[in-house]
Amino acid sequence: MSEPTAQPLVEPLVQAQAEVAELLSDLIRIDTTNTGSTATSAGERKAAEWVAAKLDEVGIPSQIFESETGRASLVARIPGQDRSKPALLVHGHLDVVPADPAEWSVHPFSGEERDGYIWGRGAVDMKDMDAMVLALVRDWARTGVQPPRDIVLAFLADEEAGGALGAHFMVDEHPDLFADCSEAISEVGGFSITVHDDLRLYLVQTAEKGMGWMRLTVGGKPGHGSFVHDDNAVTRLAEAVARIGNHKFPLTLTPPMREFIAAVEDAYGIEIDAAEPEVALARLGGLSRMIGAALRNTANPTMLEAGYKANVVPGTASATVDGRFLYGQEEEFERQLDSLMGEGVRREWLVHNPAVETTFDGPLVDQMVAALKAEDDGARPVPFTMSGGTDAKSFQRLGMRCFGFSPLRLPPDLDFAALFHGIDERVPVESLKFGIRVLDRFLRNA
Ligand SMILES: [Zn+2]
Repeated sequence: MSEPTAQPLVEPLVQAQAEVAELLSDLIRIDTTNTGSTATSAGERKAAEWVAAKLDEVGIPSQIFESETGRASLVARIPGQDRSKPALLVHGHLDVVPADPAEWSVHPFSGEERDGYIWGRGAVDMKDMDAMVLALVRDWARTGVQPPRDIVLAFLADEEAGGALGAHFMVDEHPDLFADCSEAISEVGGFSITVHDDLRLYLVQTAEKGMGWMRLTVGGKPGHGSFVHDDNAVTRLAEAVARIGNHKFPLTLTPPMREFIAAVEDAYGIEIDAAEPEVALARLGGLSRMIGAALRNTANPTMLEAGYKANVVPGTASATVDGRFLYGQEEEFERQLDSLMGEGVRREWLVHNPAVETTFDGPLVDQMVAALKAEDDGARPVPFTMSGGTDAKSFQRLGMRCFGFSPLRLPPDLDFAALFHGIDERVPVESLKFGIRVLDRFLRNA
């Protein structure tokens, strides 16, 4: 890999580091709850307009696009020194998942600063990155920093419902805005796991599993609940759901996870049983649930629907299953599902998005590694596969290499994975400042 290019900082990001917490708080206060339906979702338009105003203050023009009323995404372009080079896309979503104030220690849309953290829905998913990027480009604009190549900024709607009204829409309707982007960075990656005082793994996402949300439907003979029934749709569906829910798909080590496991072995000085890596990976604590899901395909039944009265056998029953498959595993996943479902069960996709994977190499990765190491002596960046899906699925359709790189140095004892869509979601202010410094080094050289 290339040597870190240790450019002296023109300005030590004073303004960016000073305002990032406030920017994040302000953005959290704009409730952008995505319920999955436009009728009950809100705030994306307001958030996009707020971003536009923050960019406008420093002279960065932007455009807002609506897929449906209120479902707004914003795109801006920062011209690079060499405009003939392919551009780099930096994208983040503006929407958040719902939060119930009754369950939280602070109001989830208060953006309160407490104990060195900014609290609120979106603090790690992913208004933190939105705020870091905004703070950085505002600082650059004020101090005259120009990146080596064009940077396209996209702040998107609807990621939390699969992105149909955000990233999918933008890629379908306005591909020209991204046509020259060769790579993209966004969530979920770049955060640290502390091995010991002098060593932290930084997990950079180079792959994410595909999504296969599906509905299973079984037809049967309807009739009176008191009769003898040999063709009961509820019973047949329940059997299929139980088989799927209890099934453990075979262990499949994809290239990013092989690299990840090797790095964990090295960092902890342990040997991991390749046939049963979950046992050793349990030491990663809360993260092991996310990491463990990247070692095999999964299918979790999540919803059931059948019947309307205690003494009526319904003619049909259906279930929803959240399926996730690894890169290159889609066919095998479907084959196994079909055999688990059994006779007479129909399957249809509700959401069907491909798996994404790229390699952990090349000049862009070298710059991520260099930027992390420059800000943290003990940084050891490693690739990993994310179990969930992000807007990367849309942008990779345009041929971009997609990375999860939203850098955060985290306190050793923070259960970061639990904060995603979790109660008391929060992010340390110091982590945001660290993230800005890393992004600055990275984007000045990327
Ligand atoms: Zn997210």
